[in-house]
Amino acid sequence: EGRWFAVRVAPLGSHGLVLVLAEDLTEMRRTEAIRRDFVANVSHELKTPVGALSLLAETVEGAADDPEAVRRFAGRMQYESVRLTNLVQDLMTLSRIQGDEPLPELRPVRLDEITAEAIDRCQIKASSKDIELAGGGQEGLRVRGDEELLITALRNLIDNAVAYSPEHTRVVVSARRCEDRYVEINVTDQGIGIPETEIERIFERFYRVDPARSRQTGGTGLGLAIVKHVTTKHGGEVTVWSKEGSGSTFTLRLPLIDPPLPAVKPVERAA
Ligand code: ADP
Repeated sequence: EGRWFAVRVAPLGSHGLVLVLAEDLTEMRRTEAIRRDFVANVSHELKTPVGALSLLAETVEGAADDPEAVRRFAGRMQYESVRLTNLVQDLMTLSRIQGDEPLPELRPVRLDEITAEAIDRCQIKASSKDIELAGGGQEGLRVRGDEELLITALRNLIDNAVAYSPEHTRVVVSARRCEDRYVEINVTDQGIGIPETEIERIFERFYRVDPARSRQTGGTGLGLAIVKHVTTKHGGEVTVWSKEGSGSTFTLRLPLIDPPLPAVKPVERAA
């Protein structure tokens, strides 16, 4: 791969001297290309549900005297609207966290609370596939962070674990302290797994191993990109272990607030 330069030549005084300025544009061109790709992807992803909605609206108009058909089309319109809403929501979250600015207002966040909340939000989807969601092991552990973003990241991982697992399996969310300064949160499933050659790419925006399957499960293709940015913003990292056909474990490693909360509430002082 070559490099790109902008070269400016300016005369310097009256002795025939010139000043040559060369600016390396390689990085700028690369960033621009990525941005262009992203905008093209977003437009494409938006076009799909919007196109489906307008087609369905037309069809439902022609089926006015068939209540059963109207009900069916209305259901599909609702499904497409939910997809559209999820996509816009994820785009908004991404645009908030992918820049260089630090997150405002970080507060102590209890891992047991956010895990319970994230599991709660995935429960309906899990129950519909008879997938058991189990959580545990994080009493007293706290990190400094943005509670809503951390819940979103955990929820995306649990959502994926459910989406890419067969019925009647288990998803386990567990947390443990390691090296004294970190906490590792693991989300483990017994699902389809990820081919080794794809693991590096799954955190890219809109990258899917199997686009048809992702669409079927209502995925936006942005879930893991959000997980990665949220983790980085909290000074942590995300890693994956996976075996095709037997399951995956996603691990969030975050810096702990030291020391962990005492198990017993401290006595409140009288005013
Ligand atoms: P999507 O909305 O498509 O799920 P994500 O960014 O959340 O988008 O994930 C990107 C891709 O990574 C998915 O399309 C899927 O192919 C793969 N993937 C993510 N989580 C899992 C998992 N737990 N098991 C198997 N594949 C997964």
